[in-house]
Amino acid sequence: MSAPVFSALWSEIEAIGRVGSGGYLRYALDTPDLVLRDWFRNQADRRDLPVTDDGNGNLFAWWGEPWGRDAVLTGSHFDSVPHGGGFDGPLGIVSAFLAVDQLRADGHTPAKPIAVVAFVEEEGGRFGLPCLGSRLLTGAIEPAKAAALTDRDGVTFAEALGATPAGALPGLTSRIGALIELHIEQGRQLDAPVGVASAIWPHGRWRFDFTGHGDHAGTTRMADRRDPMLTFAYTVLAANKEARLAGAHATMARVEVEPNATNAIPSLVRGWLDARAADTPTMDALVEAVVKRATERAGRDGTEVAVTAESISAEVAFDTALADRLSALLGDAPILPTSAGHDAGVLSAKVPTAMLFVRNPTGISHSPAEFAEPADCAAGVDALAEVLRELT
Ligand SMILES: [Zn+2]
Repeated sequence: MSAPVFSALWSEIEAIGRVGSGGYLRYALDTPDLVLRDWFRNQADRRDLPVTDDGNGNLFAWWGEPWGRDAVLTGSHFDSVPHGGGFDGPLGIVSAFLAVDQLRADGHTPAKPIAVVAFVEEEGGRFGLPCLGSRLLTGAIEPAKAAALTDRDGVTFAEALGATPAGALPGLTSRIGALIELHIEQGRQLDAPVGVASAIWPHGRWRFDFTGHGDHAGTTRMADRRDPMLTFAYTVLAANKEARLAGAHATMARVEVEPNATNAIPSLVRGWLDARAADTPTMDALVEAVVKRATERAGRDGTEVAVTAESISAEVAFDTALADRLSALLGDAPILPTSAGHDAGVLSAKVPTAMLFVRNPTGISHSPAEFAEPADCAAGVDALAEVLRELT
């Protein structure tokens, strides 16, 4: 595949959902995402690939019998984190369509169905729970629970979807022979155009509700304050320090304040902790240490802290034999772990799963600066086509 052929299809979606920051606001099932989903159907139509929906918002474009035995799925997601980059997710879908084109041009006749897939709400940017579509497909979340998740405007997932999600349809995942997700690399670990994933770090999201006593910023004596912002601020620093000590990652990047007024001591500060580590005991110990220090500090500030685990994703070890096979097939492509979550990680609990990474020259992701060279993206398409040929 030549870089210009890749760039030609890429340019069709490049502007969709891009805002002034240069980043993307592609919230699941919001307007830009709906435009991308129409684009997906259109691409499938152009290639005579019938599209099915699993009732959970995930889309499948089929080359071969829909849900035929041992189907090989390949794709990713359209949604972005707020003001994120354009490659995280869509690269896997665009590459999948191009890999189908390449296999057809080569005269390949797949012995098993191939499906290009678009998973819904991978980032959790709208409804708060990452990999929602793949969790529903695999039965990792109850449909009723998913249906009731709300976005920041109070719209439920069921309302956005236009139906209660169907959940795991009986026998569906048993028809999947393999899932291959191509994705931009999100660190600087990969110094070749294409690599193969070995594992995903365990990771999770915890909500910290810091409560105190709302009062006047001018008239309340310093000694009389019960200010939850102080406890929050201390916790942000403590999380950073504990993560450094543990060789893990901790981030507090989302915060809500009530009443969020310049001249009022807040009554509530709500912050989210994103924590990740190479193994589950390290991650658990990290979170425990942060909670302990937040609680101690709350005692000194006269505030309270309540912690809720919103989502926890266990460590994922991808199918080692499959990863080795793909690495060998791709000329000894590097095999590397990632600390980012993916739909492929959720699927790996049920089906043989592998991921291909495309080089990210700066390592920047979840930012407008996220970027991959067209030549590397084209190499990614070649690798994906090679893998699909081998598997079908
Ligand atoms: Zn992604």
